Amino acid sequence: MDSHSQKRTLQSASETSETPVWHTYDAQQVNDRLHTSPQGLSGAEAAQRQQQYGANQLPPAKRRSGLMRLLAQFHNVLIYVLLVAAVVTALLGHSIDSGVIIAVVLINSLVGFIQEGKAEKAIDAVRNMLSQQAVVIRDGHRQEVPAEALVPGDIVFIQSGDRVPADLHLHKVKELNIEEALLTGESVPVLKQTQPVAANADLGDRTNIAFSGTLVTYGQGTGTVVATGAQTEIGRISTLLADVSALTTPLTRQLDSFARWLTGSILLIALATMLFGSWVRGYALEDMFLAAVGLAVAAIPEGLPAVITIALAIGVQRMANRHAIIRRLPAVETLGSVSVICSDKTGTLTRNEMTVTTVVSACCNADISGAGYNPHGTFTCNHQDLNLSNLPELQQLCRASILCNEAQLRQKNDEWIIEGDPTEGALLVLGAKSGLDLTELPLEMPRDDLIPFESEHRFMATLHHDHNGNGVIYIKGAIEAILPRCQWQMSHGHEEKLDSDYWSQQQEQIANQGQRTLALAMLRVDENHRILHFDDVSKGLVMLGLVGIIDPPREEAIQAVAECHRAGIQVKMITGDHIATASAIARQMGITDSPRAMTGNEVEQLSDSELQARVEQVDVFARSSPEHKLRIVQALQACQHVVAMTGDGVNDAPALKRADVGTAMGIKGTEAAKEASEMVLADDNFASITYAVEEGRTVFDNIKKSILFILPTNGGEALTVIAAIAFGTMLPVTPAQILWVNMITAVTLALSLTFESTEPGVMLRPPRNTRSPILSPFMIWRIIFVSLLMVSATFGLFLWERSNGTDIDTARTIAVNTLVVLEVFYLLNSRYLTRSVLSRDGLLGNRYALYAIAIVMAFQLLFTYLPIMQLFFHTEALSLADWGKILVVGLILFLAVELEKKLLHSVSKTE
Ligand code: ATP
Repeated sequence: MDSHSQKRTLQSASETSETPVWHTYDAQQVNDRLHTSPQGLSGAEAAQRQQQYGANQLPPAKRRSGLMRLLAQFHNVLIYVLLVAAVVTALLGHSIDSGVIIAVVLINSLVGFIQEGKAEKAIDAVRNMLSQQAVVIRDGHRQEVPAEALVPGDIVFIQSGDRVPADLHLHKVKELNIEEALLTGESVPVLKQTQPVAANADLGDRTNIAFSGTLVTYGQGTGTVVATGAQTEIGRISTLLADVSALTTPLTRQLDSFARWLTGSILLIALATMLFGSWVRGYALEDMFLAAVGLAVAAIPEGLPAVITIALAIGVQRMANRHAIIRRLPAVETLGSVSVICSDKTGTLTRNEMTVTTVVSACCNADISGAGYNPHGTFTCNHQDLNLSNLPELQQLCRASILCNEAQLRQKNDEWIIEGDPTEGALLVLGAKSGLDLTELPLEMPRDDLIPFESEHRFMATLHHDHNGNGVIYIKGAIEAILPRCQWQMSHGHEEKLDSDYWSQQQEQIANQGQRTLALAMLRVDENHRILHFDDVSKGLVMLGLVGIIDPPREEAIQAVAECHRAGIQVKMITGDHIATASAIARQMGITDSPRAMTGNEVEQLSDSELQARVEQVDVFARSSPEHKLRIVQALQACQHVVAMTGDGVNDAPALKRADVGTAMGIKGTEAAKEASEMVLADDNFASITYAVEEGRTVFDNIKKSILFILPTNGGEALTVIAAIAFGTMLPVTPAQILWVNMITAVTLALSLTFESTEPGVMLRPPRNTRSPILSPFMIWRIIFVSLLMVSATFGLFLWERSNGTDIDTARTIAVNTLVVLEVFYLLNSRYLTRSVLSRDGLLGNRYALYAIAIVMAFQLLFTYLPIMQLFFHTEALSLADWGKILVVGLILFLAVELEKKLLHSVSKTE
């Protein structure tokens, strides 16, 4: 049938009849109805169906509307205070002040709204980088496509760790267990099968359907897509779970509560100042009210939460640029304090580009030449070419390599690529190098059944029969999994008694060179044996040989390990591989020269407290299972470590959840692992974790810088008002002017600090102690020191001007500009926490800071010289000499802070 008529039929089926009751159908009926077959759709047909059915996506979650988000900005103590103040000032007849207050409220809210929107967008953009992939058969080939591209009729393959990408009618399963809590609330996985079930079966009983969004916990299966997007069961009951990224983290919450406490205190101080001013100093209550409002606005660090959110969002973006995708915002700050990284070996520390270089049989040790997945190479022994026709055990081993295999080797342009597990890819290449035909052999020996590889049992087995009914089981896996099942070994084509010691020694030798080893074995079975059970491979197997596979270390990971060491971060390898292989790789990676290693079995023997006592000393955990990972994380956390842990399998989820920064692999990781993680590595590379840690430390530094900038500037502004009232002098800055200063500086200057790039030496410091408070004694000192400098400078200059007979409006204009210029200079100081900024880079290195300064100064010129501003704010034009004085005062503050850095360097170095 051509695709047009197919489309018509499909359309008419969907238009005329009610939705088919798929679970009552068998595979044939489903495929007939959807005009598909086990070979899958053609690419063209799939594209057409995608147009008809749309993308396989759930309707997006409803978000808070823009208006609601804007209104939320007004829900803030400061805004309430200001609104009350606006009403009171209006009632008192101060319409200009009232107007200024309203303008401040509007601008503050608008800026908050825009900033929040930007931060959310930045984080969403990163989230969208994590699209789900699905394995589908199209044009007769197995291929990976984005899950959104699936259409009804596609044949999809799922295995443990996958999220089911669409509703599938299953036609082939192997111990397929699916957890359907999302749909049914039942967290015990359901064992799936392929037979039709009754029409009235509940969702949980439709065991021949795999529902979109549910999680494969074990086994594998293949099925036909029967519904996509909103047509799936999950699509019908809900739209996408509202996964709106809350822009809060422990740090922002901590700071929020600090800000609330501060706001309360400031309001009390403002009230006290107002009463003091009017009762003790005899000022008019009305003036004092305005002064108190100015004081409150000056002192409350209302911009702080927004600035911190932005700093986190910028961190998320920068990490994404370096292949570390943050799924949960708090991870950004936690990353800065990571003290141990527990990493997988394969693919994370190593390249996951496997090549078989050694084959050991009972009769010979062969070296295999060739590089990568190019299937050309030779077998040699002591530099002599081997003739495989004389070595039946090697022939069998190569047959097993091809048949007991789920991967595919393809040539794309000039490059050989594999689809599937690289270990298996390497075995296919080995088979091809032996001269076997990768397409013919599976046709001669079709597969009847298999036991898929799972890291719990560490082997895989397949059952085949040739067309004459001769049956054979091939099995491959870790030597510890295979050897105990063998009774015989093949030597010169005959079966002889197994020599376990020989194989163990050989394996040790290969592993010591850092090669990954796999054992291969076989068992002949009779014609009627068509289903493969675990019991069938439990004993009596014939050992064929061992293969040694090299997987070169990633160069950048070696450097990253060294960088971690310099940064006081321990690196531990947790791998499913053999202890000797793992230790050799640990040496190559520079984790340590003499790795202290422990196997999963040993971990099991230890009690929790014994493990805690030893865990810090161990560098390599070999033959580890996901349960061991969980115990290792817990033990490290009990030793007060902040742990980043990598993982990829479905069973890694508990350890990833438990770790402070669970880190899933973006390429080889399962959906289950990604969902349990805080961070996903787009390139599976260990080095990306180190970059993320560096960025995490930078974000934290920038937050500290912002706090150290914002608090003293608020403090300086507020103290100026308090001092005036306390000393009974005229206010050096009017309430309206304070509002102005706050409005233009709060959102511009501090924000530029969140863009600061990483300071050199960030990765030479030990990790931050998470229990130490954000405001360290050093920071409190700096805040008090700078606040006092600011108030003395502004107030001092104002009093000096007044004593020289300058009129009040000009003196105030000078005071306001002094305050702003002081902030500008202090912004430059704040670029580095403890280092001097007296260098080209220190002064000019952050272009955002320079833009911010330019904007602020432009506004100050308007403020000083524009007639309408002069009317609103009672400002007067200043002379060049006035500006000279202001700049000198600014410079003095700048140098004073630089001097403080120099003097306190030894103290502050510990910050
Ligand atoms: P890591 O945990 O660092 O990724 P790993 O990839 O070596 O290490 P597993 O995938 O759990 O860990 O593999 C454990 C062992 O199982 C391997 O050392 C190997 O002997 C065996 N093995 C790996 N892949 C296969 C496979 N596809 N078929 C059969 N055996 C395998």
